Amino acid sequence: MSSSSSVPDGKKLVRSPSGLRMVPEHGAFHSPFSLEEPCWVLDKECSRCMQCDTKFDFIRRKHHCRRCGRCFCDKCCSKKFPLPRMCFVDPVRQCSACSLVSQREADFYDKQVKLLLSGGTFSVTLGTTDKGETMSCRLANNHRYLFLDGESHFEVELTRISSIQVLTEGSSPEGGGSRASGLLIQYKPMGSQDAQTLRLDTTPDHKGAAHWLAAMHKAAKLLYESRDQ
Ligand code: ZN
Ligand code: ZN
Repeated sequence: MSSSSSVPDGKKLVRSPSGLRMVPEHGAFHSPFSLEEPCWVLDKECSRCMQCDTKFDFIRRKHHCRRCGRCFCDKCCSKKFPLPRMCFVDPVRQCSACSLVSQREADFYDKQVKLLLSGGTFSVTLGTTDKGETMSCRLANNHRYLFLDGESHFEVELTRISSIQVLTEGSSPEGGGSRASGLLIQYKPMGSQDAQTLRLDTTPDHKGAAHWLAAMHKAAKLLYESRDQ
């Protein structure tokens, strides 16, 4: 059975031509990782499969890829895959190129997002101060903020991050063997136009935090890819 019977707080079910989606009740609370549904290529503009060039007729029907909105024959667009970035409840039809991207992203949602939500402990340096504070850093449940908690507390809104750079240690000239040891984040605090630098460094006591850094790096790639589109 589908899992659509239980709707978490703050979410609602909406039906789009592509399927059932579970989205935040307020559009302003969309996850920064979420993608808009594409406009579908119009039927009248598409007489052949956009991958194998098969001509459509009464037998060879056209299908739209839910991720790119392009038009394909059944053979080139037959499989359904999860598409968490568009909030679909069930797997949806996708072309082969899109399904590869979606499968990578499903992996990110299954593993990395869980890591990011559970958090990691770092030595945190803000701006030009050289004294780091031990803080736990985690992604908010709505994916919109990084929460940093220690003696002090502050948060970074993901959409206000302009760059994320992974710092590594132990890298060899051949490029192998490097391990994420820190993260340099440039962002604009809410209500400010001045960029702030935030640095997270792993500490000997919390070596597991390197996995959190790697997950954050993947998250940053997803964010930049969707901004560039
Ligand atoms: Zn085809
Ligand atoms: Zn596609």
